[in-house]
Amino acid sequence: MATKKDHVFAIIGGGIAGLTLAVALHHRGLRIKIFEQAGQMQEIGAGVAFTPNALQAMRVCHPAIYEAYERVRTRNLWPCKQKVWFDFYDTRNEDGDAAAKPAFTISNDVGQNGVLRAHFLDELIKLVPREAAHVGKRLESYEEGGPDGRLRLRFADGSEDEADVILACDGIKSRVRQLLFGAHHPCALPSYTHRYAYRALVPMEEAVDAIGKEKAQNAAMHMGKGGHVLTFPVNHGQTVNVVAFHATSEEWPDSSKLTAQSTREAALRDFSNFGPGITKLLKLTSPKLDIWAIFDLGENPPPTFAMDRVCLVGDAAHATSPHHGAGAGFCIEDAAVLAHLLASEEISDHRGHRVALAVYDAVRRERGSWLVQSSRRIGDTYEWMAEGIEDDLAKAEEEIKYRNGVIADVDVEAMCHQAREEFSKRWRA
Ligand code: FAD
Repeated sequence: MATKKDHVFAIIGGGIAGLTLAVALHHRGLRIKIFEQAGQMQEIGAGVAFTPNALQAMRVCHPAIYEAYERVRTRNLWPCKQKVWFDFYDTRNEDGDAAAKPAFTISNDVGQNGVLRAHFLDELIKLVPREAAHVGKRLESYEEGGPDGRLRLRFADGSEDEADVILACDGIKSRVRQLLFGAHHPCALPSYTHRYAYRALVPMEEAVDAIGKEKAQNAAMHMGKGGHVLTFPVNHGQTVNVVAFHATSEEWPDSSKLTAQSTREAALRDFSNFGPGITKLLKLTSPKLDIWAIFDLGENPPPTFAMDRVCLVGDAAHATSPHHGAGAGFCIEDAAVLAHLLASEEISDHRGHRVALAVYDAVRRERGSWLVQSSRRIGDTYEWMAEGIEDDLAKAEEEIKYRNGVIADVDVEAMCHQAREEFSKRWRA
């Protein structure tokens, strides 16, 4: 029987969930192997922003994660907007006026924090030993029957490996989720939320010309009927991250692909009612523009996040539409809780792992599933389609504040301690 120090934790996927979990486990003395299907750990060149709970979770996982984020993050550029999450603009009133004032502002303790994903992941990968990261390894299947009761992992390139525990951080289309529940289970595949998004990175100077200094240099959310456009500065203020969401009643043509090629012209058509400022901004994007289909697990959430010695982490467990800007933050919360549980001194064998993962499910599933549903509601709110709110902006402000509070007003460290207490209770039972 393998001893505790020999236990191997296989992390499937090297995105934000996989790498923050890897750092948290490695720095607690656990033996990790990361298996990433891509030829190298890399991310798309888009921006991602973090809510206050995410920053707490980074520190709990390991302070070096927070320090890495601090090196690459960009806040709002204006000193008076350091606590502003987003200024919300009513596109009916903007009318190309760069000086148009926000309809309302949502703030929090840390304001807006944008990073380029690639920059953040480049920093995270430095925090795990080189030999722990295995690239070009697409997990196909796993089964029991390895030596010492280990799970045997099989990869698309024909190679095999073994692990005591599988931590599936393999994203929205998680292969492990399909293996856990079966390819025909409703949760095996995510569903289309009938929204897609154009994403672009625009040079700051040009964005200032298009929408004015205040909106380009600080996070801005432009609301309109059936769509919303958000911008925030990244890359230490040299670049503006632009994401333009459009609601549609049409189906996504090919659910095996989450992106499709589109054009700047199509974006200009979709947002033609958003005023001249947004038109000028969209004109700065490339003529060929990808659109991202917004899928989530809202219709068919997984019935559990953990089974035996396998668990789902991050988007694999609770893939959400991005309207709260909190999906990645919840990945890091998952990592914090799991690391606390798996590093428990009391675990000496596979029964300990099973109990730890069952507690992870108990602690994380309700909150993770809430985010997915709440994000749908908040997306509708930004686009004046939420029942009972429509285009009443006072009600919209109230709704956003309440829901953002549920996300931000949490004590991640206390959540981890509660999980450990629950583990001890179940372990001794
Ligand atoms: P992923 O990032 O998808 O990583 C999964 C990894 O697993 C990938 O590297 C993949 O190659 C690998 N993989 C997959 N299958 C296998 C396999 N079989 N074997 C081996 N490896 C495999 N969240 C925020 O908090 N803030 C934001 O501002 C924000 N903006 C967003 C904007 C958009 C348009 C979208 C779509 C999402 C946004 N999100 C945001 C959500 C956030 O991006 C996700 O929640 C987060 O990136 C998920 O991370 P993950 O590690 O779980 O999954």
